[in-house]
Amino acid sequence: MSETLLEVQHLKKYFPIRKGLWNKTRGYVKAVDDISFSVRRGETFGLVGESGCGKSTTGRSILRLIEPSEGKVIFEGREITGLPDEAMRKQRRDMQIVFQDPFSSLDPRHSVQRILEEPLIVHGIKSRKERQQRIEKLIDVVGLTRTHLHRYPHQFSGGQRQRIGIARALTLQPKLIVADEPVSALDVSIQSQVINLLQDLQNEFRLTYIFIAHDLSVVKHICDRVAVMYLGRIVEIANKHQLYDMPQHPYTQALLSAVPEPDPDLKRQRIILQGEVPSPANAPVGCAFHTRCPKAMQVCTEVRPQLLDTGGGHMTACHLYTPASSGME
Ligand code: ADP
Ligand code: MG
Repeated sequence: MSETLLEVQHLKKYFPIRKGLWNKTRGYVKAVDDISFSVRRGETFGLVGESGCGKSTTGRSILRLIEPSEGKVIFEGREITGLPDEAMRKQRRDMQIVFQDPFSSLDPRHSVQRILEEPLIVHGIKSRKERQQRIEKLIDVVGLTRTHLHRYPHQFSGGQRQRIGIARALTLQPKLIVADEPVSALDVSIQSQVINLLQDLQNEFRLTYIFIAHDLSVVKHICDRVAVMYLGRIVEIANKHQLYDMPQHPYTQALLSAVPEPDPDLKRQRIILQGEVPSPANAPVGCAFHTRCPKAMQVCTEVRPQLLDTGGGHMTACHLYTPASSGME
């Protein structure tokens, strides 16, 4: 199951900062600043980092819900960055998103029936009977019932709304779902139900997930591999075991030290990071993390570290792991 479904190459999204009477561009928020990774068919790929590090922007740029500033997105071997609108619209059948906030992401004026039927109409499923069959199957697989179809979003709890959001993402039988903090807005007691549902659906429909989360505890059980982001960049990519047992990047180590560990023998030393996350409009030169890194060296203030394979597919962007001979190669 190592076939690549999605490849992201040197993706950037810079938002212009406009000010003044003439709306002149005064700089850029570098929300995503040159990231590359690939996602295998059938896997759950976690994208983790503190609020504001660029996770949602990455997810939306991949689906081209916002236009990337630079870089390529390749889906099933086909470059989709640069596809004309109509071709992109068709492509999006295969690539869907589940949003963080099930309250604002469902149109309050529409019944569940309509919310689920609309994508089917837009994508040309002309037979009313076929649409109805699909909708009834969908509402069933996400654990709701047909009587729910005629209700409106405000009549549901947060967990039920997220089930509707998931059903909507599934209507067109996508291959990839970007789940953008799908449980962050839900009560803790509901979170695992929704995560279990996502896992069941993955098995049933052979889905591939990019699962976005702001801390490492949520993704631990669901993800096969995890990418850790800091200030618009990926600092580490590893499979779950590598990441949780042998985190390499000092930022990952700090994030992980904050994850509650049920086994007291394994309790990690909590690493408290100094200072604030710098603004993505003014990221530090060199390694973006150097201003807060307990292990920063001179080189970190000057040279941006590349994301390199340190062995077994464990990738880290940190000068502690840059081969000393790299300048001579
Ligand atoms: P995350 O999902 O990791 O919390 P986001 O991708 O939402 O982060 O945001 C990354 C950065 O980009 C933040 O500094 C945010 O304020 C900024 N940003 C996001 N969307 C826009 C936008 N439309 N215009 C300007 N800045 C934006
Ligand atoms: Mg977000």
